[in-house]
Amino acid sequence: SDSHFPIPISPHHVDYSLHYPQFFPSSDQVHSTKKVEFADIGCGFGGLLISLSTLFPESLMIGMELRDKVTEYVKERISALRVANPGQYQNISVVRTNSMKYIPNYFEKGQLSKMFFLFPDPHFKEKNHRRRVISLHLLDEYAYVLGVGGIIYTITDVEELGDWMKACLESHPMFEALTVEELEADPVVKLLSSATEEGQKVARNGGQTFQAVYRRIQPSS
Ligand code: SAM
Repeated sequence: SDSHFPIPISPHHVDYSLHYPQFFPSSDQVHSTKKVEFADIGCGFGGLLISLSTLFPESLMIGMELRDKVTEYVKERISALRVANPGQYQNISVVRTNSMKYIPNYFEKGQLSKMFFLFPDPHFKEKNHRRRVISLHLLDEYAYVLGVGGIIYTITDVEELGDWMKACLESHPMFEALTVEELEADPVVKLLSSATEEGQKVARNGGQTFQAVYRRIQPSS
């Protein structure tokens, strides 16, 4: 339950220097201007973070994961990569938290430029749809923490969930779909189906995937 992990009361109460020591060299820089820019929600075993780390070495990114053992595994995986590759993988980290409840405790308004929802749990039954990590209500929160121009990336192998995520994003006033040209030009889109452990499993089994990639916009009033 939630009582087993710490919940910061505001983003200012998260000591990111512990996550990215190389980017916060001395303790008086705890409130350094460097901020987390990407969040991988339900990061699982961390494959996406590891791929993104070298693609955007100057951007800080964090995985949010509910399962304790999986979070510990990702921490160890990142530590081992840092040891084996001096100077690299310093920009990725993970926290154990319930992202459906605590996103605003971690990020300020407009702080993020990318959010990832890769192969989220489908929660098939209608009464469990409220547990889905993309919903109109949660999109309000994601719109709050994403800066204008920030991008939400979603992918699933469950067609019904893919339709649901797309429908939520499509009907929300603060998001618009990327064009085909924009999708092709974005190197991150190629990672959605290949970088995570779940994506690799789906690919091995020859499964189809359904993606929805939307930009946070400033709605016209
Ligand atoms: N994104 C990873 C991938 O593509 O390999 C993992 C996909 S896995 C099917 C979904 C993950 O979301 C699980 O690791 C689960 O523990 C995590 N998760 C589910 N609900 C969550 C929540 N409310 N907050 C954080 N993580 C959550």
